[in-house]
This record gives sequence, structure tokens and C-alpha cells, in this order.
Amino acid sequence: MTEFELIKKFFNQTPRLNSTCLGIGDDCALLKPSGNQVLAFSTDTLVENIHFFKGADPEALAHKALAVNLSDLAAMGAKPLAFLLALTLPAADEAWLKKFSQGLQDAAREFNVDLIGGNTTRGPLNINITIMGEVDENKALRRDQAKTNDDIYVTGALGAAAVALQAKHLHVPTPRVAFAQDLLTIAHAAIDISDGLAQDLQHLLQASGVGADLWTDELPLFKSATLDQALNGGEDYELCFTAPVNMRNQLLKLAEQHSLKLTRIGVITDRKKLVFLDANHQPMPLAVHGYQHF
Ligand code: ADP
Ligand code: MG
Repeated sequence: MTEFELIKKFFNQTPRLNSTCLGIGDDCALLKPSGNQVLAFSTDTLVENIHFFKGADPEALAHKALAVNLSDLAAMGAKPLAFLLALTLPAADEAWLKKFSQGLQDAAREFNVDLIGGNTTRGPLNINITIMGEVDENKALRRDQAKTNDDIYVTGALGAAAVALQAKHLHVPTPRVAFAQDLLTIAHAAIDISDGLAQDLQHLLQASGVGADLWTDELPLFKSATLDQALNGGEDYELCFTAPVNMRNQLLKLAEQHSLKLTRIGVITDRKKLVFLDANHQPMPLAVHGYQHF
């Protein structure tokens, strides 16, 4: 199978969105956002032995590769439009490619996003996706807009990826894409939890020039996850966001509409420091040691 046969057989998707003027097959894809929207871009790579073990299920891998990119769009409240796939493969293994492309197509259909191009080369297994979405320039959920006295929320459960990793399983996250688009007029600031809640919340606090009290006993732990896994585990791809107190009822309703677990886990302070509090509201000396590649 040549490179071009491979692309044609496994990745030649017909565009489904109006924003895709030209998909796979030319030197570039052509993309048109809606009139008043700006484009949101992000990219993420999965590398064998770093992000997954050798022999990982190709369908789940494809789903995860797209999901982690979709999660970045969700963290800005952007609507997904299209993505590029740069795939490095040790061999043209048809059985592997069939499952991988199936997983990718399923995820792309589920989240209504077009595969519009990419690149295929030979080498150690590496899956890179670049994703594009659109969002209202003035409403995008940024990290730097948290305000003192905002409530802090987290979606879903924390530590699921750490628990899966212990069992040598691949955790396939659910990006909170639809929910996030409804947060645009409600939340002040948002970030997705790729490196662990503690580290990512710190990024949000630093960008906004504020601090936080975090109620450790309120954290929604995934099954057998420990507090350390929930705070520092990483790879959960849930959303952490802040919103003014007067939005509590609206957020309850929104979470219910989306059948999404939503937990209020703390409050933004003006002390420029992340403070962990125990059940008695006493400060706890917890270390922040989220995921670091280097
Ligand atoms: P070029 O040499 O002009 O960069 P390629 O020959 O690499 O183009 O690719 C041909 C077409 O197939 C391009 O439209 C490219 O975007 C697309 N493509 C290549 N690899 C992939 C892939 N893994 N998934 C989706 N589209 C791909
Ligand atoms: Mg190329």
C-alpha cells in the first residue's frame, strides 16, 4: 500500500460542515468561519511510551487523540470545525489503520468536526492533531478573567486517568464541548485539566492575578482515586472554571440539561495564593506536582 492509497482508504472523509470549503486532497484545506466569529487553534500529540503503552487499542487511541484536542476548544468555549492529522507510523498495518480510522471517524461524527487534511510519514508511532474551532472574540473563555469571590467549579470526576494508568489502561476522556459553549455568557474564566487540577488551577490563578481557597473534601473523586491523584494526576480533561455567585442557579440547570456532574470546589480570593483547606476549613500543606514533560 502506498502512502496515497493509505490516505485514500483510511482518511478520505467527505466534509460535513459548511465551514469546510475544501477538505482532503489538495495542498491546503480551505476553511470559512461564520461571519462574526474568530478562529480558535490548538494542537496536541500522543507519543508511544509517554502517553500510551505499546499495543494500546487503536480505536481508543484515535478517540483520545481527538478528545484531548476537543478539550482545548472546550476550555475556550469554542465550537469545533475541523482538524488536521499528522500521523507517524512504524508500518502500514492495515488492521491497525482500520481500527484507528474507525475510532477517528466515530469521534469526529460524535463531535461534528471535519478531518480536513494531514500528513503521513514513517517512524516511531506518533499521533498529532491540530484542531480548529470558532468562537465569539469577546466571549471566549480565557484563563485570565477570574475575579475575586468567583465560585470555582469542576466538571465530572477527578483522578480517572491516574486510576486507569495504574491499571495500565488507556483513559479516554470526554471533552466537555457542548457544555462549554453554553458557559460563554456565564463563566468568567476556564481551563481544561490536562496536567492535574492543582497545577492547571494555578495557571488560571496566575493568569488572572488572583488566588483561591480549594475545599479538598468537596472534590469529586473518581471511584478509588486518592486526593493526590485527583489534584495532581493529570490527563482527566475535565473543565475547571470560575463564575460569579449570582450564576449558581443557572449553572445547576445547565449541568442538569447536559446530564453533567458539576461540583463547586472553592472560591477565588485576592490573596494571590492557592490554599488547600480540609473538612474543618483548616489549611493543608499539600504539594502541587502536576504532570511535567521535562
Ligand atoms: P503534500 O505533499 O502536498 O503535503 P500529501 O501528499 O502529504 O500532500 O497529502 C495529500 C493530501 O492528503 C493532502 O490534502 C493532505 O492534507 C492529506 N493527508 C495526508 N495525510 C493525511 C492523514 N493522515 N489524514 C488526513 N489527511 C491526510
Ligand atoms: Mg504533506
